[in-house]
Amino acid sequence: MEEYKRTVLYVEDNQLNMALMHHIFKKNLPSILLLKAETAELGLSIARETLPDLIILDIGLPGLNGYEALDILQQDEATCHIPVLGTSAFAQVSDIEKARNKGFAAYITKPFQVKLLTETVERLLGGGL
Ligand SMILES: [Mg+2]
Repeated sequence: MEEYKRTVLYVEDNQLNMALMHHIFKKNLPSILLLKAETAELGLSIARETLPDLIILDIGLPGLNGYEALDILQQDEATCHIPVLGTSAFAQVSDIEKARNKGFAAYITKPFQVKLLTETVERLLGGGL
């Protein structure tokens, strides 16, 4: 068994983005266990069960969207301390501002820039990886 130092939960409905994130973590962040959920509903339940160190949350999801999921995480005493990195293809300045105002710790637009994504994850985890 590998020993992981941290756990990150990625909530994403797009298979290609999920596969890309898996690859980025394997290559650049191998000491982190990446948990995966295809819907906000499943992600919320995994978050409550595992209390990950960071959640990467897509905005555009079937069912509850990323903003609604963030609200629920922030209202729950068990999960409100977990930083949430928002991701979306919505790249207008107004989208980015909305995400910041909503309480995402950071917001990254797709398609992912690998270096920026890696550095942002490291920063939000507070180093020590
Ligand atoms: Mg999506």
